[in-house]
Amino acid sequence: MTAYDTNNIFAKILRGEIPCHKVYEDEHTFAFMDIMPRCPGHTLVIPKEPARNILDISPESLAHVARTAKKIAVAAMKAFNADGITLQQFSEPASGQVVYHLHMHVMPRVEGVMLLPPATRKEDVKALEDHATRLIAALKG
Ligand code: 5GP
Repeated sequence: MTAYDTNNIFAKILRGEIPCHKVYEDEHTFAFMDIMPRCPGHTLVIPKEPARNILDISPESLAHVARTAKKIAVAAMKAFNADGITLQQFSEPASGQVVYHLHMHVMPRVEGVMLLPPATRKEDVKALEDHATRLIAALKG
């Protein structure tokens, strides 16, 4: 497997070199809005520990990601008046992975509404701001 690239876009987001709409951070994980959401509220959860994908992440770091994904999922149900949640994680090009720092997609779903295909369009900054604000409020309970 290819080695972890410290200059991947999510590593740059973690280092604060590229902006993002952050919704949550703790000692081990970081969560922010996907710039090309497949549905309103599409959030990405990443580990702080460098990992390319499911094949090299430590079980401990993966558990931290899962714990944060659960927090985001519960908050997203409320923030986006969702009926369900889709979680997705892609590993290596054959799977559809395009950014090589492990990330869990958390996508709030509304009954009968299909997900957009990946990378359909860049969301407006205003919409991303609004979604992040709603999610942060729901995370506070
Ligand atoms: P993958 O196919 O690797 O699982 O998905 C990568 C995800 O990262 C895609 O959903 C894409 O929209 C998102 N993405 C790519 N570049 C950026 C970026 O610069 N900022 C944010 N917030 N999301 C990004």
